[in-house]
Amino acid sequence: VHYNTISDCNIHKILQKYSNIVDKIPADEECCICCEKLSAPSGYTDSDPSAIVIELKKCKHQFHQACLCAMYETGVKDCSMQCPICKTIYGQKMGCCPDGQMDVQKMSQSLPGHPKCGTIVIVYNFRPGIQDDRHPNPGQPYYAKGFPRQCFLPDNKDGKKILRLLRKAWDRKLTFTIGTSVTTGHPDTVVWNEIHHKTEFGSNSTGHGYPDPNYVDNVLAELASQGITEESDDD
Ligand code: NAD
Ligand code: ZN
Ligand code: ZN
Repeated sequence: VHYNTISDCNIHKILQKYSNIVDKIPADEECCICCEKLSAPSGYTDSDPSAIVIELKKCKHQFHQACLCAMYETGVKDCSMQCPICKTIYGQKMGCCPDGQMDVQKMSQSLPGHPKCGTIVIVYNFRPGIQDDRHPNPGQPYYAKGFPRQCFLPDNKDGKKILRLLRKAWDRKLTFTIGTSVTTGHPDTVVWNEIHHKTEFGSNSTGHGYPDPNYVDNVLAELASQGITEESDDD
């Protein structure tokens, strides 16, 4: 897996690749990052008094260059850029999931709602460690509560597709993050990151089980919003 480290990433190279400088700055439009007029300097940072305005290439949304730089510097600095207005992703979005294991097994029993096919079992595991500078409390420990976690997919066409995409999400460190668990209230712990997994096998008493006729569509949409689709290897 190629993992871009912070030192690989220079914001000016990234802006050159994904944006153009705007010549005719609209008089009345605002920069949504700082809420000042695009025609005025950035209200967020005074690092660029010349007030250059740039436009992202695919979605054409416009911002102060200094505002977009500042936004990038506060993020995971993974060489990708996500438009703060329409969420269009430029490059490959990387998360900050700590190192761990993703293992895949098969089981012959079927899931409720998916009779006559076996089950794919994904097992995620983490050990505690030290947070790095993209995490909430750099240098402090993080904990791994409730691991290993088992997750279930039907072993059919949809389930296999979801598994391929979940592997891609894992490789891009998007599956978990470090934060405060909504469920347990534990801070500084490894928690799910916006891609829902089914962790209940024989029923759906938690809402994280089967049957759930909407699960395939929902998880594909969640993956797509992180830039994970079967066609997403371009940038
Ligand atoms: P969280 O509570 O901060 O919630 C983050 C997201 O995960 C939310 O979208 C939530 O809907 C979803 N989520 C919550 N509970 C879930 C569950 N049981 N299965 C799948 N998704 C769930 O996230 P968290 O702290 O990472 O997990 C929530 C709880 O689930 C924790 O108590 C964890 O220990 C427990 N859990 C345990 C196992 C296990 O096998 N022992 C497996 C999965 C989750
Ligand atoms: Zn601005
Ligand atoms: Zn946009």
